Amino acid sequence: MKIFFKPLITRLLIVSALLCATVPALSQKADTVLPKPGYETAVLLSEYISHASVSGTEKYAGEFLAGVCRERGLHLRIFTDTVDSYNFAASLYPLDSGKPNIIFLNHIDVVTPGEESGWKYPAFSGTIVEDTVWGRGAIDMKQAVIMQLMALSTMVDRAAAEDLPMNVTLLCVSGEETYGLNGSKIISERYLPELNPAVLIGEGGIGSREVLTGDPQRPVFAISLSEKRALWLRLHLAYESSGHGSVPPPDYASKLMISSLNSLTEIRPQIRFDDLSKLMFRNLGKLEGGLTGFLISHPVLFKPLVAGGLRKNPLMASTVTNTVTITHLATTECGINQIPQEITAFLDCRLLPGTSTTHFLSYLWQKLDNSHIELSVIEETQGSDSTVPDRYYSLLAESIEDVYPDAGVVPVLFPATSDNNYFRNAGVPVYGVIPVLISQQLLETIHNYNERIPVEALHYGTEVYRLFLEKSMPDTDQP
Ligand SMILES: [Zn+2]
Repeated sequence: MKIFFKPLITRLLIVSALLCATVPALSQKADTVLPKPGYETAVLLSEYISHASVSGTEKYAGEFLAGVCRERGLHLRIFTDTVDSYNFAASLYPLDSGKPNIIFLNHIDVVTPGEESGWKYPAFSGTIVEDTVWGRGAIDMKQAVIMQLMALSTMVDRAAAEDLPMNVTLLCVSGEETYGLNGSKIISERYLPELNPAVLIGEGGIGSREVLTGDPQRPVFAISLSEKRALWLRLHLAYESSGHGSVPPPDYASKLMISSLNSLTEIRPQIRFDDLSKLMFRNLGKLEGGLTGFLISHPVLFKPLVAGGLRKNPLMASTVTNTVTITHLATTECGINQIPQEITAFLDCRLLPGTSTTHFLSYLWQKLDNSHIELSVIEETQGSDSTVPDRYYSLLAESIEDVYPDAGVVPVLFPATSDNNYFRNAGVPVYGVIPVLISQQLLETIHNYNERIPVEALHYGTEVYRLFLEKSMPDTDQP
């Protein structure tokens, strides 16, 4: 208990100090202390971050979150309740009301923090300093559910008074960072009828600047309509050779593997535009304007002109190519003067919709060109058809534009993989966006050290969710 409460008290003191520091100069009365917008959200996020939830240990943080949802008047439905698979819904109305449901999907789990020394403030402290909340999950994605909860809280009284035609649910799941097997897979296979989704908003796009070359300050928000799928591969190579590093044999395991991997690094992947990427470039081109915008809007027609620019931008390139990243290399434990007889490499491949695993593997096999390599698939995630933008897409875009008046909104193919495809494949319209405006520098802290989010971003993000809910809820005739 001591271990837990000490940091909690320290954190609350820091927060209180910050709240006090925000007394506006114009208010001279001691009793009119007005916290900055977003601070209540920040304090709650800080608390949630301090409940560590690395994949496989979600229950502790999940129970905390469920408790907060209950206190705020939401109805709970716990679907599964184990340490590594804690999945629940917190809804405006009980699920058995059968109302069509606007679902906000979020994952409780976070990735490991790495070395504690890499963090400016401890990864699970939830420290709030410099108008920023620090800690693992601050962007991926504990902030989302806290903002959604703050937005949904504003509807609880109205829901009690009016019998609204729609339900709204925070769907909180485990194991997103480990392919969704302990969370979204279970929910999408067993509990979808009970959830009765009209639409699901998950993670995916975000708002950032420095997207438009002609107007780098203009924010652009991406809403993902589909995702690439992951194909994780293991390459194993065993080769018997002499063992002393002082006399190199003509061939040995590490040399053979590196030479094959080298040919993968030299791949110049084919650029492919499908309907979604064409839609994405058409919208980006409109925002960009001018000649550049015109070229971007017609990527197929001007492919020779736009291809060079696309290849230089890793994010853009990843939306129109299949990618291969060599993430790990491992040999058996041995000294620097010993030649290992086996070596293993791991590849993280991300495939565009419509790419068949068999074709891709035979292409890779050809490139590796080494019969000593054994190739095996560790895991592959599901692809899905793209969500066709409907009313909810327009309402999301409108809400973003209301809160950030100069922002542009673009439908995109998400280059990474999330839980969203489980629900797309079950026939649910799914949009991937967390409506916060984040600098490039902060985006790079995702899955990295010093993950953090400004309080201001939390405030505006909450406002987008609140407006979206208001716009989504059809008018009811009050009795
Ligand atoms: Zn995430």
